[in-house]
Amino acid sequence: MPAFRATPYTVPVHDVMHRPGEMREHELVITLPERLGEGAASVPEGSKLTIDLRLEGLHDGVLVTGEVDATAHGECGRCLDPVTIPVELEFQELFAYSPDEAFDYSVRDDHVDLEPVVRDAVVLSLPFQPVCRPDCPGLDPETGEKLTASPDADERAVSDPRWAALEGFRAAHDDVDDAAGVAGQDAAGVAEEKE
Ligand SMILES: [Zn+2]
Repeated sequence: MPAFRATPYTVPVHDVMHRPGEMREHELVITLPERLGEGAASVPEGSKLTIDLRLEGLHDGVLVTGEVDATAHGECGRCLDPVTIPVELEFQELFAYSPDEAFDYSVRDDHVDLEPVVRDAVVLSLPFQPVCRPDCPGLDPETGEKLTASPDADERAVSDPRWAALEGFRAAHDDVDDAAGVAGQDAAGVAEEKE
């Protein structure tokens, strides 16, 4: 087994070890040494990941419960716009006092190493195919233009009543579209429509 090495993910637990009932809460803020996620969305290197930790001493080991908060970035699988994805999840793992086949993790040199636990939980929570919004119509297969950015394409494609409502919004705001930019106006319209 390799020697223990402190990293941003390692947390000292000596104060709760072998003391059943002892509990400590701790906020861990990690500046990611490398990104989490290899797919269409990832939490970038250098960004902040916050974990509200609860460390509890048990007979067999230290029970670690964490609430992870981070922000992933990716691009919409349909229109290729950048998307921001909040990552909020919980994990709970027992770190055994001595290496034991019954447990995946163990305490090393009075520390727990949360990296594999956090990495797995975050990567599994990331969407496989992120979208900028659930009804993103994507790109026009003929022109490659974003359908939302082309009023002509939208008029041809209107079949969904929600889009009809958006058309109404657009008609009422045609005068500001030119000044504000059509794409920005579209995004604002959808946000208002959802609320
Ligand atoms: Zn999109």
